[in-house]
Amino acid sequence: MDLTLTEDQRGFRALAREFLDREVVPHRAEWDRVESVDTAIIPKLGDIGFMGLTIPEEYGGIGGDYVTYVLAMEELGRADSAIRGIVSVSTGLFGKSVLQFGSEEQKQRWLPGIASGRLLGCFGLTEPDNGSDAGNLRTRAVRDGDEWVIDGSKIFITNGTWADVALVFARTGGPGPKGVSAFLVPTDTPGFEATEVKGKLGLRGQATGALSFSGMRVPSDALLGEEGQGFRIAMTSLDKGRVGIAASCVGIIQGCLEASVEYSTAREQFGRPIASYQLVQDMIAEMSVDADAARLLTWRAADLIDRGERFSVEASKAKLYASEQAVKAANLAIQVFGGYGYVDEYPVAKYMRDARVMTLYEGTSQIQKLIIGRSETGISAFS
Ligand code: FAD
Repeated sequence: MDLTLTEDQRGFRALAREFLDREVVPHRAEWDRVESVDTAIIPKLGDIGFMGLTIPEEYGGIGGDYVTYVLAMEELGRADSAIRGIVSVSTGLFGKSVLQFGSEEQKQRWLPGIASGRLLGCFGLTEPDNGSDAGNLRTRAVRDGDEWVIDGSKIFITNGTWADVALVFARTGGPGPKGVSAFLVPTDTPGFEATEVKGKLGLRGQATGALSFSGMRVPSDALLGEEGQGFRIAMTSLDKGRVGIAASCVGIIQGCLEASVEYSTAREQFGRPIASYQLVQDMIAEMSVDADAARLLTWRAADLIDRGERFSVEASKAKLYASEQAVKAANLAIQVFGGYGYVDEYPVAKYMRDARVMTLYEGTSQIQKLIIGRSETGISAFS
């Protein structure tokens, strides 16, 4: 097994870290406090290549492989998960759906703007009454001549109030996953409304939206892929998205580790650096091993994607493990920092609040276990 990164992969990781340490890390606490990043950062993220990481050059991206993508997501997770989410939803969940399932016209229309950061996309799957059970979503799209008329609502949509274009999943057929289709909807379409979900525990710098659609008309060519293919599109994109979430959790663990080492070697109690006490080293050793283990699971899933092999269960394992360990690492890091860990002068409290959602979205930890359990036993426990 060759775990050596190529020169391009190492180069992009170094570039990403240098950029994020300069442009994001100094501002993250303030953006978290005021509940919004400075959106001027988004085109800058585009300029450096983050917004078009796996989008091919012909559509304005940098055409990197998936291992490069997870390296970038790790660096973004270490710097600021709020920024990471803005990137991974627009270029990942939205961009990859268009890339894989879009017509040539749809790709030409949307991908160059997404890849440059001039346009922002969002991914509207979750509804107020259907989260884990997304295949039973209720938003309806009805055909009327050359148009579709969409009515319904979505909740917790990352980039929801900032996006220029939304990927909206709606029911065009009968009950269950096979009746779901996907639509590309410019957010200035009459009948589209987005309001912000305020008061989040973490990821406070990014906009999370509640969307509502009322008699919203889109042309027939807004359909992404085939009618009835929507749930497959959503699940395909989420499988890849989970690998990105896992990578960003590796970044959180790595960030907790680096902050804890720096703090504990400088902070003295009882006349010695606290890093010299075995109980403190115990916490640091846990973070170090968890970072490596989560990283290896993530790289394996990313490598499978690059080789065109099946990766769905490996994605669930990586996401489950990395997200649970990110919460654990952030909790340990706060312990290392003592009372200083509880305030936002240092990054570990934010790591804790940001890490918590990773066990919830793109499939909760329980849903990942059902996917892994189904693979091991051959029995679906979903319903
Ligand atoms: P529920 O599905 O109601 O789950 C509640 C609990 O029940 C969980 O513990 C769950 O594990 C458990 N549960 C449910 N079913 C089962 C079962 N069969 N077996 C065992 N346990 C079960 N969605 C989008 O579409 N796009 C986005 O961009 C997006 N961004 C988000 C950003 C944030 C900050 C948040 C908080 C959420 C976001 N989501 C987004 C929504 C997210 O994906 C859902 O919240 C998640 O899928 C869980 O759905 P739910 O909240 O309805 O919880």
